[in-house]
Amino acid sequence: MQFKDIVGQRDVINRLTEIIDSGRVSHAQMVLGPTADGSFQLALAYLQYLCCEHRVHHTEGDLRADSCGECPSCKKIGSLMHPDLHLFFPTATTTRITSNPRCEDFAADFREFVLEKQGLGTLDDWYAFLGIDNKQGMIREADASAIVQSLSLKAYEGGWKMVVVWMAEKMNAAAANELLKTLEEPSEGSVILLVCESDERMLPTIRSRVQTIKWKPTNGERRAENNAEYAPLLVEWLRMLFKLKMKELSTQVDKMAQMGREQQKQFLNYALGVMRDCFLKTAAGLPCELGSGDQKFDAMFPSMVTTNNIEMINAAFNDALFAIERNAYGKIVLMELSFRISKALKKR
Ligand SMILES: [Zn+2]
Repeated sequence: MQFKDIVGQRDVINRLTEIIDSGRVSHAQMVLGPTADGSFQLALAYLQYLCCEHRVHHTEGDLRADSCGECPSCKKIGSLMHPDLHLFFPTATTTRITSNPRCEDFAADFREFVLEKQGLGTLDDWYAFLGIDNKQGMIREADASAIVQSLSLKAYEGGWKMVVVWMAEKMNAAAANELLKTLEEPSEGSVILLVCESDERMLPTIRSRVQTIKWKPTNGERRAENNAEYAPLLVEWLRMLFKLKMKELSTQVDKMAQMGREQQKQFLNYALGVMRDCFLKTAAGLPCELGSGDQKFDAMFPSMVTTNNIEMINAAFNDALFAIERNAYGKIVLMELSFRISKALKKR
């Protein structure tokens, strides 16, 4: 996970990279915010940056720095396979683990869950993933002991020893008490990140021992942010689909493919939303604000999406989203999508 894959919160991220660069790394921090908005992504990107062997500092754009995403350390943290990265999370009994559930019993499941959801999965998603929708998960004393132990050992790779507790508010009192001493006197070279959605549910004794990173984008902000970010890109791309000049289109698709996977998905979802709005304007006369900043285009484009092509457009976007979820190569997916949308627009 790189910072560029996270939506918004550039101020928070830039402050964090500055602190890491200056070597003043805090040993125990709480990342506070909805996981569906990226709080857990932030924790993972933070650790990847911390351990990256070739941190990249930007002179342009809204991020001052990011991990390289390419070095062995980035690859290991990105795939959640770093031997010094320990993940803890709520568990419950399942059909497979029928008593005394512990995180280590579910390590492979959790890894698969996080990678599949790109770190944006919620607690409900996790329970559904485990097939325990009607149970309440918990982080127990045995898990806290495992945290203490993993931080007391020597780092396998000689660097940082890292613990992320996902949904730390699900620690029961015994687990929280077990963890207190470690938070107070962290061992050399260790970093603990407690990711939680509600600090009110955390024991005050824990809260007072950690620094808090606040992460609170609302959905409204996210939409508005996407709108501002993606509208010009969408308009540029749609214009090219009319002309279909191969060289220009290829450059444009390159630009889109350079976005992180998560951003590509957001862009496609945004674009699909705009297409549907256009269709509703054509078919039912509903108001549709493209918000591209180009009034002529905003007035003209909706009439291009009609009953003759909305299904083709819908299918093309959904296929592209599906392919990107399955880690297909961005440029090929976006190129194919471009051809399909171009063809669809001609059938209006
Ligand atoms: Zn790296």
